[in-house]
Amino acid sequence: MGLFEEVKKNVTVRQAAELYGLKPNRSELIRCIFHKDNTPSMKVDRRYYCFGCGCTGDAVDFTAQLFGLGAREAAVKLADDFGISYISKSRDSPIGKKKDSIKTAEIIRTKKRDDDWIRCVRAYLDYRLMFLDWKKQYAPKNPKEEWNERFVELLRELSYVEYVLDILSFGEKWDRDHLVQEKRKKVEEIERKSDDYVCIKMIWKEALDHQYVEPKDMNQMKSQRSWIQKLLAGSGLALTDFEIMEFRKAGRDA
Ligand SMILES: [Zn+2]
Repeated sequence: MGLFEEVKKNVTVRQAAELYGLKPNRSELIRCIFHKDNTPSMKVDRRYYCFGCGCTGDAVDFTAQLFGLGAREAAVKLADDFGISYISKSRDSPIGKKKDSIKTAEIIRTKKRDDDWIRCVRAYLDYRLMFLDWKKQYAPKNPKEEWNERFVELLRELSYVEYVLDILSFGEKWDRDHLVQEKRKKVEEIERKSDDYVCIKMIWKEALDHQYVEPKDMNQMKSQRSWIQKLLAGSGLALTDFEIMEFRKAGRDA
């Protein structure tokens, strides 16, 4: 696996922050490193998200900003500091060791196949978890209730996701490899989706921690709505009306 994949897979923003001396407080917040931040407003988890300026990213983006490095230098720094080994694409094979380099190439190819497979399995497992989460959250509570669009999506997708996982785990080698190739684009899409989902969950938790309360009148409702939307601004995520409604319900139950 290449440098970026290895680093992003193995290092969370939280771990990087701690190693570089920025200790998160009890709410997992540190002072934002992207804007002048007097009270800690940057949440650090697998990714970071700043409630002040809305910036978000992973451990590589974080380290690049912290030390003023380019993305590649930041990834190399993280790999060194966390003792992560990776396959360097720029390494030249010495002349006269052709046999060795053929063998190395074969090993790298095999390793790459395994890594692609792992990445695919991981993405589909995440995808499945997200659906199971949705199932708890969005399943209709009584027969009369209208079905939520996410519930419909999960009904449609979940059994197919489980079928893919089945083949990836127990299928013949050829079928597995073939499926991994076929799902390459989809895996990227799932990774983006579950990253977004992690972000949304973080924002939800944050809103609940701030004792989000049921608005008393229209004005209060409007101001709370814009507050939630401010949290989401900059992260590239959009909250649907349904989610805002759910926010209120959750606030009431909390
Ligand atoms: Zn910020």
